[in-house]
Amino acid sequence: MTTQDFIIIDGSYGEGGGQILRTSLSLAAITGRPLKLVNIRGKRKKSGLRPQHLTGVQACAAVSGAKVADAKLGKQNLTFKPEEISGGFYNFRIPTAGAATLVLQAILPLLWKAKGESSLVVGGGTHVPWSPPFHYLAEVFVPTLDRLGFRCEIQISRWGWYPKGGGEIKASLRSCKPSGSIILDRPFELKRVTGISASSLLPEHIRVRQRRQLLLRFEKAGIDAEIGLMDVPALNPGSLVFLCAHGGGSVAGFSSLGARGKRAERVADEAANALFYFLDSKAALDHYLADQILIYFAITPGEHRFTTSKITQHLLTNIWVIEQFLPVHFEVEGGVGEAGLVIKRDV
Ligand code: ATP
Repeated sequence: MTTQDFIIIDGSYGEGGGQILRTSLSLAAITGRPLKLVNIRGKRKKSGLRPQHLTGVQACAAVSGAKVADAKLGKQNLTFKPEEISGGFYNFRIPTAGAATLVLQAILPLLWKAKGESSLVVGGGTHVPWSPPFHYLAEVFVPTLDRLGFRCEIQISRWGWYPKGGGEIKASLRSCKPSGSIILDRPFELKRVTGISASSLLPEHIRVRQRRQLLLRFEKAGIDAEIGLMDVPALNPGSLVFLCAHGGGSVAGFSSLGARGKRAERVADEAANALFYFLDSKAALDHYLADQILIYFAITPGEHRFTTSKITQHLLTNIWVIEQFLPVHFEVEGGVGEAGLVIKRDV
């Protein structure tokens, strides 16, 4: 094989973070194209592979039978030569509190390309900063994928907070029958808000105050909200607020994590503010879901469109990666930081 056959992706392009690596691995495996990644996470303070990314590489390699060179912690370049994607049962573990949900994000698109059903267990952080909390996957991402025709079930068996991690998520993939044209552009009409206030190894008043502040905010806004309280076992203390806005045609999720010195009321306010910002935008999808479902739009033939509350660098960078691999074109209306419309077309 000559280097000509490799698709070369610069990991410092655009946002220059871990998403470039995950989307590139998924699409290299799906298209069967050998991949050379350079400048991995080139715009992050600590560039190169971190434990979550390394586990992501190993997971994609295991599922696609890829030969991988140079995949070690801290490395900024690697090559990945995929073979055939095989379904089955897989077990991957991040040895730190790295986000298990992001390993799932990298691996799910591949497993849907495998024949038959697959299931997997991923260990690591389940509710950690800068990543989707498990509940976002379960209540926003998976139900949206279901609407697009990618069916799976997901469960949490253990929670993992920063810094110890030790959480565990199980996923079972069912059928994959992508729908024709996917249109998610109806202005969001709020039907109801549900959510949880959860904590581990912390006094009860923390989760109670988080919940009380949420209910106060929603009452002031005239919105009915159902917020559950959860006390969950874990290896170290942690707290979370997760909110789900259910609309007529879509669902959106907002979360905030507790930290030492951060008041419980602030944790609640962060998630509530994010939800209100989203509602004001009238968009169908929150900005996290926008970047997470792009790849499914890309691998589903046809013209699709969605509106999102915020066009982000993250979204634009992910579009760039996808367009390097697939004969698709994304049109984006709206500037960075503004609400916008995204249209995917086959070229
Ligand atoms: P890096 O450390 O290089 O930033 P990373 O691999 O940790 O890389 P990003 O490239 O920043 O992560 O990608 C983060 C992913 O997590 C994106 O898909 C983003 O939508 C998602 N995400 C981050 N925060 C949330 C949140 N609060 N709710 C839902 N999804 C989230």
